[in-house]
Amino acid sequence: AEVIAGIPVARLESFAKREAKRYAKARPKAKHALEAGANVFLDGVPLHWMKDWPMPHLPLVAKAHGAVIEDIDGHRIDDFCLGDTGSMFGHSPAPVAKAIRHQARRGLTYMLPTEDALEAGRLLSETFGPMRWQIATTATDANRFAIRVARAVTGRPKILVFNGCYHGTVDDAMVELDGGKTRNRQGLMGQVADLTLGAVCVEFNDLAAVEAALSKGDVAAILTEPVMTNSCMVLPDAGFHDGLRTLSRRHGALLIMDETHTISSGLGGYTRVHSLTPDMFVVGKCVAGGMPTAVWGMTEELAARYSEANANRAPGHSGMGTTLSANPMQFACLKANLSQVMTAPAYAHMEKLAERLSHGLRKVIGRVKAPWHVVRVGARVEFICAPGPLRNGAEAGLAHQPQVEAALHTALLNQGCLIAPFHNMMLISPKTKKAQVDRLIAAFDTAITELFA
Ligand code: PMP
Repeated sequence: AEVIAGIPVARLESFAKREAKRYAKARPKAKHALEAGANVFLDGVPLHWMKDWPMPHLPLVAKAHGAVIEDIDGHRIDDFCLGDTGSMFGHSPAPVAKAIRHQARRGLTYMLPTEDALEAGRLLSETFGPMRWQIATTATDANRFAIRVARAVTGRPKILVFNGCYHGTVDDAMVELDGGKTRNRQGLMGQVADLTLGAVCVEFNDLAAVEAALSKGDVAAILTEPVMTNSCMVLPDAGFHDGLRTLSRRHGALLIMDETHTISSGLGGYTRVHSLTPDMFVVGKCVAGGMPTAVWGMTEELAARYSEANANRAPGHSGMGTTLSANPMQFACLKANLSQVMTAPAYAHMEKLAERLSHGLRKVIGRVKAPWHVVRVGARVEFICAPGPLRNGAEAGLAHQPQVEAALHTALLNQGCLIAPFHNMMLISPKTKKAQVDRLIAAFDTAITELFA
């Protein structure tokens, strides 16, 4: 019989069918409401990513608090997706909610700074290191601006990215490897430019390929996550980051760390926990406790080079910034989140429960002898329906098992546990309880035991 990820296909299919039915039966209100009101949206969803959830239809959320989501059908769900990292510090952290109420009476956007802005800036340097900071609204934008600075100061066209990477909807990084050659990603819509003029793609953990690409002398910067979190979860080999730093310096390229997901690693992100020394640092999503905010910073040395490039350019638009960025609400939330939510004790709690979750999932996988593995980066845990460890994006691409993942995610949700769509990612917030973690392990156990019976 045919087998996917160790599971007989016939069994997987009947499991998936039953779980889909069970889901739909438990959510009549959401079904009715969507039928009545969702047609105004393109394809019935306000953001097309929402079509990637595997359930028969979406739930409608009534409210969320801590690490719990309640839907309009009365289900109380343990949330391990946490808005795919935007709410990694919990839904509406109390200090952030308070800051929002306070700022709500004082104006929402002025294109002028506040005293909170100065305090938020000080906290950014205290938390992530002494960078020269800029505020953006999404990590996508922050990466775009960082890339622009890199090209401006080096005068070079290309960004080096890793196969299978994701840095937001940044066209410059939307390339992939095909038989050793860089090409535009195949799924990209409406892109008519040849992106290979501005990007080169190599495999993660392949320092020889990085060196070969850099030695051409046309690379402005390496843009990478410290850990590949968007291609299953691929850890850097020992020495990989040292190698990137050494090679980038040797060949005059900058090094940009995108910590948007690896901020899960601990206070200050992977960069601080592992003493990395990038030229630019980007983090978004959860940095202001869920208020749309991203930050990007550069070292003082790079800031001096940027000033020079800026002084010598023709007058006109720099191509960076958006009107609502650096607004007072963002600063109020940044200040509250950095000083009261994103703290060492919060990370200690997240780390402890994430380890409990990894351990529990591994035990289940081991018991049923599934050819799967689990990877953890601080508060971020991922199970992968293939043997590991994975070393690069190509291996991660082959490890994905969409049919298994869709069935399993729906089954977990039917047992009250929400994990991220597209992959098998689970986040622990400072508000996540031990009992929630234990419920997720038990739900996983129930599903896996049936699938591998
Ligand atoms: N960088 C990384 C590493 C990401 O994973 C993402 C989003 N998943 C982004 C940047 C972009 O974030 P946003 O969608 O908030 O712009």
